[in-house]
Amino acid sequence: MARLLTKSKYLMGLQCPKALWIMFHEPDKIPEVDAATQHIFDQGHLVGELAKKWFPGGIDIPTDDFMGNIKKTKELLEQRKPLFEGGFMVDNLFARPDILNPVNDDEWDIIEVKSSTSVKEVNHHDVSFQKYCYEKAGLKIRKCFLMYINNQYVRQGEINYKELFAMQDITEEVDKLSSDIQERIDLLFKIIGSESCPNISINGNCTNPYACSLYDECWGVLPEDSVFDLIRGGKKSFELYTNGCTLIKEIPDEFKLTANQCIQRNCAQSGKNHIDKDAITKFLESVEYPVYYLDFETFNTAIPLYDGVKPYQQVPFQFSLHIQDAPNGELKHHEFLFEGKEDPRSAFMSKLKEHMGEKGSIIVYNQSFEISRLKECAQALPEFQEWVEALLPRFIDLIIPFRKFYYYNPIQKGSASIKAVLPAMLGKSYKGMAISDGGTASLEYLRITFGASDGTIASADDVKAVRGNLLKYCELDTEAMVWILEELMKLTNL
Ligand code: SF4
Repeated sequence: MARLLTKSKYLMGLQCPKALWIMFHEPDKIPEVDAATQHIFDQGHLVGELAKKWFPGGIDIPTDDFMGNIKKTKELLEQRKPLFEGGFMVDNLFARPDILNPVNDDEWDIIEVKSSTSVKEVNHHDVSFQKYCYEKAGLKIRKCFLMYINNQYVRQGEINYKELFAMQDITEEVDKLSSDIQERIDLLFKIIGSESCPNISINGNCTNPYACSLYDECWGVLPEDSVFDLIRGGKKSFELYTNGCTLIKEIPDEFKLTANQCIQRNCAQSGKNHIDKDAITKFLESVEYPVYYLDFETFNTAIPLYDGVKPYQQVPFQFSLHIQDAPNGELKHHEFLFEGKEDPRSAFMSKLKEHMGEKGSIIVYNQSFEISRLKECAQALPEFQEWVEALLPRFIDLIIPFRKFYYYNPIQKGSASIKAVLPAMLGKSYKGMAISDGGTASLEYLRITFGASDGTIASADDVKAVRGNLLKYCELDTEAMVWILEELMKLTNL
């Protein structure tokens, strides 16, 4: 059977010919979709379903039977009604529009639905491929639109799907790409038909416009301490790599680096950590006891679940709080993990307020996250406004000594994240934990609360186990901050 170039493969080929070739010739190399990507797909599906409401009287064409879907689409075109997910196959090209809307006597508009919050260049390529297929199949296309999420929408009561979406006419941008689309398609078919895999080295396209599913395969060959660990390396890292410099320690002296990148090179060359005792001391002097080590876990959804929430707004459902009255003193631990499908924010804020004393530093890691969540909660729940205002000046961001390179250990690989700093400084890590990152925490909370994407409801035992794992994970986040602060004190003999 002749090879079929679908819309997603066309976009993959534009991003990287090597990925396209592997997709056709060595598909076993493509890893299974991970939970985070599946969540994005599921969100996209929910958004797609809601978008159909804009077009009453539209016909959903089942997609489970590939050829049946194409046949049915042909039949239904005559009815001149909005068509959802009808497939078109012509000259080994295949595309399936989210929505085809009939206009005038014999024309159609293409409406592509995205769960993103802005229009990107890849969307123009996406729709240009579709338009080309549908016109080849004999349709007259009038205009092309992108329907995407309006991130300024705030839910109040039932979802107002008219306000949830923004619609942009992208006909002009699509037409610009149409003039040489056949050349691009020919080139991609040539790649697909080739016996050997295109020789493509890692490059900026590996994460743009999408994170390539072969990332680990291609990037996994890099040695430890590669130039891609340079903080804000960007083009500089690629320039070094293509000129044959793979390791940070090999970067020539005359190569222009930022001050922090120079620290990385010095550490790589000397094998020693960088410690700026004066800067760390100054940072630590701002800490006032009792200290409150605080961390939140949140989830977000494309379609807001509660009143007063915007699309993709982070909703806090869990916190861990360690309190310490004096340096190296005993720790008191408080935690909260909401249970139930309702909006967790009111209970979250009340519980937090119970435990936060009136003075003392509040230590968080990357403070903009926790501060933004508190401000958003206070906006939705004005009874907490004054309390949140009073908390804000007490925040101290523990990421600062690492982001500003007061401390640097090459094990961090240029990262200031707590997941990188903890093993580098203390040899401890999140490895082996059932939940070991915020993304998984969020997905697991959603799964045990609202069910899995396939409709499976978590059993009572599963819920119990996941809640236990969530509590352990969040507790480690604040405990890690205690250890890191104490280690910084040791380094400066405070
Ligand atoms: S990781 Fe990069 S080089 Fe490798 S297949 Fe993907 S886009 Fe191409």
